[in-house]
Amino acid sequence: MNAVERVVVGHLYPSYLNIYADRGNIAVLAARAAWRAVELDVVTIGPGDPTPLEVDLFYVGGGQDREQALIAPDLSARGPAIADAVAGGAAALAVCGGYQLLGRFYRGRDGEEMAGAGVLPLYTVAGERRMIGDVLLESELEPGVLRTVAGFENHAGRTILDDGAEPLGRVVSGFGNDGESGLEGCRLGRALGTYLHGPLLPRNPWLADWLLTQALSHRTGEVPVLEPLADELEAEAHEVSSARARSRGGRY
Ligand code: GLN
Repeated sequence: MNAVERVVVGHLYPSYLNIYADRGNIAVLAARAAWRAVELDVVTIGPGDPTPLEVDLFYVGGGQDREQALIAPDLSARGPAIADAVAGGAAALAVCGGYQLLGRFYRGRDGEEMAGAGVLPLYTVAGERRMIGDVLLESELEPGVLRTVAGFENHAGRTILDDGAEPLGRVVSGFGNDGESGLEGCRLGRALGTYLHGPLLPRNPWLADWLLTQALSHRTGEVPVLEPLADELEAEAHEVSSARARSRGGRY
């Protein structure tokens, strides 16, 4: 891979949606890209800004209902542009509040409905009890390759996927989308939505590399082969987080 390779990340609303240091996901992507001589250009997209056409990977973090309500109209208005980009092979990672708002709508704790971007095939309604704790998933993003994803969830929203929609993974321990379906997150092409914070990518380096691979494929039209990294600390973080989730004692 030569030194001029780059990918463009469109970071949506970083000053509104960044709960549990979700911004750390970008730091991980930038470091893992740089270690492979890939430049990660991060373009901030705030309310009123245009949606840049050259984005390879959209990123949106989590936030509470209040922050979500502040940006929901703007995000909903740019929904078709993001949906077109994803249909054209752009990648995305949306976490918690951002995940909810990439769906059709989110009805918050006060009953008010926020229109979503309509990018992911789902909707979300807040329930009484918050779903909090460590989570472990089994995920099969590539057919026949089963991997685990570890993280932390804290949400009141119950997310319901449309019939036939693909989840990010199956819950091994934790609540997941709604505490009932055994499903967590959503995958549409190269776009992923999830409730997992932590932030997510430091303890799931394979997922960071999967996203980088998707973003590079979008840019170059070819599937890159990323050089493997040592990842000892990352593996340890994954182990600690998985063990904490497992000690919750099975599903839900
Ligand atoms: N407000 C949303 C909920 O509670 C999202 C919270 C979050 O991003 N942690 O469901």
